[in-house]
Amino acid sequence: MPEYEPVVGMECHAELLTESKMFCGCKNEFGGEPNTRCCPVCLGMPGSLPVMNKKAVDHVIRTSLALNCTINRDAKFDRKNYFYPDLPKGYQISEYDFPIGVEGYLDVEVNGETKRIHIRRVHLEEDTGKLFHVVGDESYVDLNRSGVPLMEIVTDFPPDIHSAEESRAYLTKLRAILTYIGVCDGKMEEGSLRCEPNVSVRVVGSETFGTKTEIKNLNSFRAVYKGIEYEVERQAEVLDSGGKIAQETRGWNDAKQITFSQRSKEVEQEYRYFPEPDLVPLEITEEWIEGIRASMPELPDARRARFIADYGITSYDATLLTDSRALSDYYEEVVKESNDPKSAANWLMGDLMRLLNANSGEIGTCPIRASHLATMLRRINDGTISGKIAKTLIEEMYTTGNDPDAIIEEKGWKTVKDTGAIQAMVEKVFAENPAIVADIKEKGLVQKRGFLVGQVMKASQGKADPQEVNRLIDALLAR
Ligand code: ADP
Ligand code: MG
Ligand code: ZN
Repeated sequence: MPEYEPVVGMECHAELLTESKMFCGCKNEFGGEPNTRCCPVCLGMPGSLPVMNKKAVDHVIRTSLALNCTINRDAKFDRKNYFYPDLPKGYQISEYDFPIGVEGYLDVEVNGETKRIHIRRVHLEEDTGKLFHVVGDESYVDLNRSGVPLMEIVTDFPPDIHSAEESRAYLTKLRAILTYIGVCDGKMEEGSLRCEPNVSVRVVGSETFGTKTEIKNLNSFRAVYKGIEYEVERQAEVLDSGGKIAQETRGWNDAKQITFSQRSKEVEQEYRYFPEPDLVPLEITEEWIEGIRASMPELPDARRARFIADYGITSYDATLLTDSRALSDYYEEVVKESNDPKSAANWLMGDLMRLLNANSGEIGTCPIRASHLATMLRRINDGTISGKIAKTLIEEMYTTGNDPDAIIEEKGWKTVKDTGAIQAMVEKVFAENPAIVADIKEKGLVQKRGFLVGQVMKASQGKADPQEVNRLIDALLAR
């Protein structure tokens, strides 16, 4: 059987963070009592007219700049016509041939290497309403989302992405950029960031492309990864058994972890695109663009490079720590207050991430304040507590949200530095393990020394000062 190469194009939709909707004054907010945030414009009433939301255009220009795109100075809007119950107007206002941003790219890190993913376009459109299919045969529509500003970002052709891994890296980086520049909250679970991979396979070495399918309803990074893997596998099997791939849209069944055929793909002509007559084309001036460029915050790549250069952490750590703005802000605060960038990275990506994952928590609402984590690191470094105790301490900090100093005091977790007390413990451990002591002293089996250290630490419940323990053990062995 031939070996296949996956080919993936990504279409991502991001709901923009604005006060109001794209073409009316209704509130742009997630959820809410169904059909309470609507007006004649977003309900598609005949005779109502759209008024452009400038903030939404700002956001798309900002995103285009962050993605290294060229800005179309005379971008315009078009009608994309189709009928669906979640689209009361019968058309969506979108951008067809002159999108705001074109020909950009972003760089991703995969397996320690940097790869450039080219972007074809970044355009502005409006979101549809939401359909709810209730058990039985009833369906409901909620139009609160109708007319919410939506940005679409499409990767270039021929596609640069050739694995589920690269797709995930692309999506991770894109999400990081969008959240850094504050245009989207990046919440895939609330649908504010949605991603539709286009997947095909071709025989390795082939110059032509296979027929693609588009996967919808993926609402997590994991689903995107699994969906692409599944689809690649499925297409290879179809081809291997002499079948043909149908060009279609496929849904994702998260419970079964499979894709399934939804509908055959509509072709562009069916949308009957034409210029939106109710809106004038944009005139994006040099001043407008430069104003936005001047207010651009530090982007993930720059921050990542700075973390490596200034804090001496690995590129792997720096990549993970710059995944989201909230995470890198948190990290920098811990570094500033602890002066220990490497330990800060280790604790953040080790124990803190583990706690967050186990509790489905997020760094933005982490019960451990950055300043508290910094205090904990200082207490390890100044010898107040051991690293081992810190492992328990951080759990306690997570559940209580309390100040580590207060917890250490209350629990009596300070390191024991009292030489007399440690000496007594060392002597007790020696008395209880004569065979081991003899092996070390007489047979020179120094590797067994660690056992004695461990026993003393255990006797002290992890609180004995390790330096002192080592010193006293050596002294007693030398006797
Ligand atoms: P459609 O109009 O069907 O949505 P587009 O031409 O807009 O298709 O392409 C959508 C995405 O799919 C783009 O990122 C594009 O690069 C990618 N793409 C196009 N052809 C293929 C293919 N054969 N295999 C995988 N991806 C493809
Ligand atoms: Mg498409
Ligand atoms: Zn409205």
